[in-house]
Amino acid sequence: MKPAPMSAPAPITPSPSGWNLDHSYARLPAMLHEHLEPTPVREPRMVVFNHPLAQSLGLNAAALAEQAAIFAGNELPDGASPLAQAYAGHQYGHFTGLGDGRAILLGEQLTPAGERYDVQLKGSGPTPFSRRGDGRAALGPMLREYIISEAMHALGIPTTRSLAVVTTGEKVFRQESLPGAVLTRIAASHIRGGTFEWAAAHGDKAALQALADHTLQRHYPALVGAAAPYLALLEAVMERQAALIAQWQCVGFIHGVMNTDNVALSGETIDYGPCAFMDAFDPATVFSSIDRNGRYAYGNQPQIAQWNLARLAEALLPLLHADEKQAVELANAAIEGFKTTFEGHWLTGFRAKLGLFTKEAEDRALIESLLTWMRDQKADFTNTFRSLSTIETVPQEDPAFAAWHAQWQARLKLQPQSADEVLAHMHAHNPAVIPRNHRVEEALAAAQKRGDLSVMQRLLEVLAKPYEDGAQQGEFRMPSGLAPGAYQTFCGT
Ligand code: AMP
Ligand code: MG
Repeated sequence: MKPAPMSAPAPITPSPSGWNLDHSYARLPAMLHEHLEPTPVREPRMVVFNHPLAQSLGLNAAALAEQAAIFAGNELPDGASPLAQAYAGHQYGHFTGLGDGRAILLGEQLTPAGERYDVQLKGSGPTPFSRRGDGRAALGPMLREYIISEAMHALGIPTTRSLAVVTTGEKVFRQESLPGAVLTRIAASHIRGGTFEWAAAHGDKAALQALADHTLQRHYPALVGAAAPYLALLEAVMERQAALIAQWQCVGFIHGVMNTDNVALSGETIDYGPCAFMDAFDPATVFSSIDRNGRYAYGNQPQIAQWNLARLAEALLPLLHADEKQAVELANAAIEGFKTTFEGHWLTGFRAKLGLFTKEAEDRALIESLLTWMRDQKADFTNTFRSLSTIETVPQEDPAFAAWHAQWQARLKLQPQSADEVLAHMHAHNPAVIPRNHRVEEALAAAQKRGDLSVMQRLLEVLAKPYEDGAQQGEFRMPSGLAPGAYQTFCGT
């Protein structure tokens, strides 16, 4: 996602480290943020630093990689104006007041390319929104966010990114005592569905409108000045969410905690808690240990996205029309359109995975019949799609698959593209490697228990080129062999 520049900020002279921070969010009404500084930690130590990302942000990567104190919150970067963002959200369907309970926004880095990115510390100490939490984070979950968000980026899926993880030299207490850490998260913005819910719940129409105008300028500048800008905003956010969730479905990514506070208005994937990629295909797959009813299962993600967008639409009602009844009608009509929009993106995504360039009426049925076969066979999602293009002899002992394969081959003949073009298309849309759960766990265990970062570095290297087929990729392609449902992830970490 490429955020557009906001209306010309005052010229800022970049610091020697390359910091070029602006604070457009801090200029929004005071009910949307609380100013406070990160709480210093005992002994900051750099664990992983993202050099290419730092460079693309216009930062002096070599210098900053040595400055753990900055990424621990012990020292502020030049020009920082730290704040915690206020927001609300529907968690598992229930409305709650939330806010950054363990995160602090340092500012918005203006890059050499004219883009604007939030720089946020996660795990930086208590804030007025911490409720009963300690404001801290453990090393394992912060490295996990680093690995998976960078993998998503390499897969071509809009996402927040990870600039650094530092350890704090302090312990955090979860079920056990764990090394504390701070993650630096880079995002097009941290504006969430829940941010609008916060302003709406307080009945503060001025703040709501200022937030909507800010979001339009920042993420949808082409819509500024539209005849009905707030309805246009809702529709544009829906469009990006539909595209995003379709991309998740296409790689078997399960977010795990699709609460409305985890819906970024930029259209980026945000908040890597209990997320994971599925191995054996089953739409009922859930990894999160606390999602007992499967609310956020793979197969539910599209309808949950629509539900979340309906909460955003509710929050926007006062801006949609002066007459409430008409506002509700406009919102409903928009939300109803989500299913069609999503299905369009889903079809586009799965057509590409099957090497289809053109559109035929029976494509949906063709895709669905493969998915049904995969579910029945408990076939590995990633490897099945990746290996489709290289099948030389179709296994005749599986008549269901053989019949499907023949149908697919016949469908491929309806388009003008050559076999080579089909192959290249399929390779560009079916990753060879995803962050396999056991590989991620192995990397985290080595880092946490032995202080050995080499396992993670190797994994990161492979995940950075997910569509390549090298020998290096080979050993990272195997599923874990765990029984489906045996892998659990934890949030609130
Ligand atoms: P999440 O599940 O990560 O989206 O977080 C939901 C809410 O809980 C957010 O408001 C977080 O800031 C807050 N939160 C999560 N962990 C902590 C913690 N250790 N201390 C304070 N707040 C937290
Ligand atoms: Mg969250």
